[in-house]
Amino acid sequence: MLLCFIEYPIWMNISQLKYRDLRNLLDQGQLTCVDIVTYYLSQIEAHNSKLNAFLEVYAEEALEKAVLVDQKLQSGTAGELAGLVIGIKDLLCYENHRSYAGSKILDTFKSTFSATAVQRLLDQDAIVIGRQNCDEFGMGSTNENSAYGPVLNFKNTAHVAGGSSGGSAVAVQANMCHISLGTDTGGSIRMPAAFCGVAGLKPTYGRVSRWGLIAYASSFDTIGPMARQVDDLALVLKYISGADGQDSTVVSPNEFKKKKPTSGKRIAYIKEMAEHPSLQLDIKKAFFERLEQMKLKGYEVVGVDFPFVEALLPTYYVLTTAEASSNLSRFDGVKFGHRTEVPTKDLLDMYKKTRDEAFGEEVKRRIMLGTFVLSADYYDAYYTKAQKVRRLIKEFTQSLLQEYDFLVSPTTSSTAYRLGEKTLDPLQMYLGDLFTVQANVAGLPAISIPMGVDAQSLPMGFQIMADVFQEEAILNLATELV
Ligand code: GLN
Repeated sequence: MLLCFIEYPIWMNISQLKYRDLRNLLDQGQLTCVDIVTYYLSQIEAHNSKLNAFLEVYAEEALEKAVLVDQKLQSGTAGELAGLVIGIKDLLCYENHRSYAGSKILDTFKSTFSATAVQRLLDQDAIVIGRQNCDEFGMGSTNENSAYGPVLNFKNTAHVAGGSSGGSAVAVQANMCHISLGTDTGGSIRMPAAFCGVAGLKPTYGRVSRWGLIAYASSFDTIGPMARQVDDLALVLKYISGADGQDSTVVSPNEFKKKKPTSGKRIAYIKEMAEHPSLQLDIKKAFFERLEQMKLKGYEVVGVDFPFVEALLPTYYVLTTAEASSNLSRFDGVKFGHRTEVPTKDLLDMYKKTRDEAFGEEVKRRIMLGTFVLSADYYDAYYTKAQKVRRLIKEFTQSLLQEYDFLVSPTTSSTAYRLGEKTLDPLQMYLGDLFTVQANVAGLPAISIPMGVDAQSLPMGFQIMADVFQEEAILNLATELV
């Protein structure tokens, strides 16, 4: 098979093509799904042992499915995503496959059903090539909180991939799959996408069913695609969107179109963010250069005030830890996954030992923080207050998005950290989420697209946020900018 790559250089470009172009080649018989899967497996073989992006590779299964889909292509019965090779974050369930959530506590867990988003891609003959590394339960910004080791950035392996969907980002970055499905609770799709120089879309909360997503913070969690091409993000979004009866927060596609179309030319950026002291100078420069280019193209670009910048991270971390402490209480050694082998006195002792030995440090920190803010004496001071501030942030952000079509910012305040650079100081680590959490606190869609590289050749990201269900507008603008 490798010889074929040498004879037909176009095959070397499999990962660079949009799925639509790949599909033309498949339909014309110039390429087969087996070729595509073989190509991605060869990339995994070449890079994964170092990068640690995939925790498990379904090589045989993917090849078997490729043979079947090739037959369907020949008989004209193939689905709309035939031969689209996807990788899925370890937080998403896939029937009869393991999902560990990057945690030791689920290290014997096999799912009996597939997440709706995964199933909908499978229904269109996409091929799942493997399970991707991530921060434990999605809690992290660098992928260093995985119980299965960090993911390294393919651009420079001394640097982190970003998190929590680090494996998903690097898998696309290193051409190990065409699309990844990641999750984003506070930036986990956009941040690693920015650190790795790929594109990632966090949909509106309520657009994609969370059924089969192992919950971190249920009122923030979203599932979305990561890819090289914005076009492919749009394609995948189309299939994974919409209600499924399993997640009552998802609305029907008719709702997506309700907002009347606008000029799409009014862009705002939040001055306090663009001038934030934590912002790396190369990023600031590239960001303002991009704004200038947009002005030349006829966009109206305005700096606006946002009075809640300082409240974004506290609100996010109070509410997500509260939800996490409740969501993670189900992992007790009885119902799912790991159970301690150490002799225990009674049931309570078994719970404690299991949780103590199988949750990582960051997850424990968040469970304790969340339990504290929900405790009777502090509930109003922290949890209730954060809910109120969440409402204010959401309303203010949406009022800006009545006046402007998009809110833009750098995706992250710096490029990928060196491995270990932030691990000793959780607050420094949380500060890295400053630009991404707003979209989750407000439930809005946002994308990260590449914005060149800094002086160390590390990728930078440009973020575009819009009002609820305005993904199409975001994707159109993104296509114009990349
Ligand atoms: N870095 C953020 C956190 O640790 C975001 C995580 C996410 O989006 N899953 O909570």
